[in-house]
Amino acid sequence: MFKIKSEAQFDMAHYLSGYKGKCSNIHGHRYRLIVKLKSETLHADGQLRGMVDDFSNFKNSLKEIEEIFDHKLILEDNEEGKALAKKLADLPNDFDIYFVNYRPTAEEMSRDIFNRLKEKGLSVCEVELFETPNNSCIYTED
Ligand SMILES: [Zn+2]
Repeated sequence: MFKIKSEAQFDMAHYLSGYKGKCSNIHGHRYRLIVKLKSETLHADGQLRGMVDDFSNFKNSLKEIEEIFDHKLILEDNEEGKALAKKLADLPNDFDIYFVNYRPTAEEMSRDIFNRLKEKGLSVCEVELFETPNNSCIYTED
């Protein structure tokens, strides 16, 4: 089994609707995303001969993920998220809000990122998303 690994980072703010405690405020993290692709065999010919995948292709896909979330405020697409977005829209700043259909925890985000990469055709086997230097979620399909 071959596995290749690449990494990206992004800054993101989120709001956890329905959460009580320190993290109930809108707050941000420097997320560190580590993705692994796997393959039993290497490409036998052509441009990708001897490779699981082209690292530049892999890195470009991570860059696309990074661009979705970087410097955005991530809100859940529910009543509370929409109400918050509406209040922020009254302020002079242009808030860059990105809605997701889940509570934006490291767990849900790592699954979402896994599925986005899989849909692009990457042979993704593991997504690890660090929310802080010490805390991460690892998502795999097994
Ligand atoms: Zn947080």
